[in-house]
Amino acid sequence: RRSREQAGKPIILTGQEARDSSARLHLLGDVKNALEKNQFKLNYQPKIDLETGRIISVEALIRWVRPSGEIVPPGEFIPRVEKTALINQLSFWVVSRASEHLLFLEKEGIDLNMAVNISPNNLLEETFLQDVDYALKEVGLSPERFDLELTETDLMREKTRGRNIINRLLERGYQFSLDDFGSGHSSLSYLKNLNFNYLKIDRSFVSDMAAERRIYEIVNTAITLGHELGSSVVAEGVENREDLKLLKGMDCDCVQGYYISRPLSLKKLLDFCQEWQPEDITDLSPARYED
Ligand code: C2E
Ligand code: MG
Ligand code: MG
Ligand code: MG
Repeated sequence: RRSREQAGKPIILTGQEARDSSARLHLLGDVKNALEKNQFKLNYQPKIDLETGRIISVEALIRWVRPSGEIVPPGEFIPRVEKTALINQLSFWVVSRASEHLLFLEKEGIDLNMAVNISPNNLLEETFLQDVDYALKEVGLSPERFDLELTETDLMREKTRGRNIINRLLERGYQFSLDDFGSGHSSLSYLKNLNFNYLKIDRSFVSDMAAERRIYEIVNTAITLGHELGSSVVAEGVENREDLKLLKGMDCDCVQGYYISRPLSLKKLLDFCQEWQPEDITDLSPARYED
């Protein structure tokens, strides 16, 4: 961002900035090309209901498979792509591919909902949701089957507009998840007027709660807060059995994490769904934090 002193003066890029900006142009060209050449793929991570043990939905997570076979994680290209209009094309590809896969699973007798990560620019672009509505209608999927995830940090960049747009997507029938909750800067007064179906507690809290009482109490309070505001609560990044028992003891609704499953290819997701035993979760006894 430019300071007040800089405003009005010509922009002179330093060597590093010029290199960054040329790298960005390069990357955007590569992403466009990768879209045309179909080099993106989606992996899916199951979201499990702690009470019933059932798989309620899967979250689509994008990967870029380079022709060399190298797999580029989203953190390496999404942040730059989402600053540009290209994110609308990319997100539209994600929703379209995810709906094809949802229909494939349905034919195999597996009935799930789909969570998709979106960027603020998708919501600010008038036609994005219209395009998605149209694409879903065409294949006969209703918006209720889709859960759009936006991070707390991203939402806070667009406070008032963000809230209005979220209300619009809820009116259209989509579900909305507030992602990475606790890692951004929302205030209680903002949350008071925000509607969401799921509050997803950021992985950083979940991974430290078993070791630190204060963090456990924060997770506990976030779960109560989500419930009081009328939403379900999802814990991200559950990596072991102990975390699972603690979350059950706190009445958390859903879990995602490596302990249940890593993000899977479509084929492996199908195997996972066919072999999944809800009893593994329902048999688990809830635990409390012990000093
Ligand atoms: P996210 O939406 O919060 O997704 C969760 C991330 O945590 C994923 O990383 C997932 O692989 C990872 N994860 C899940 N369980 C565990 C666990 O138990 N332990 C650990 N250490 N990690 C776990 P991934 O796939 O690299 O995605 C990173 C972020 O990139 C996502 O965070 C999301 O914000 C963004 N992203 C991914 N796919 C898309 C997409 O299609 N569109 C947009 N706009 N953003 C995306
Ligand atoms: Mg997410
Ligand atoms: Mg998250
Ligand atoms: Mg995240």
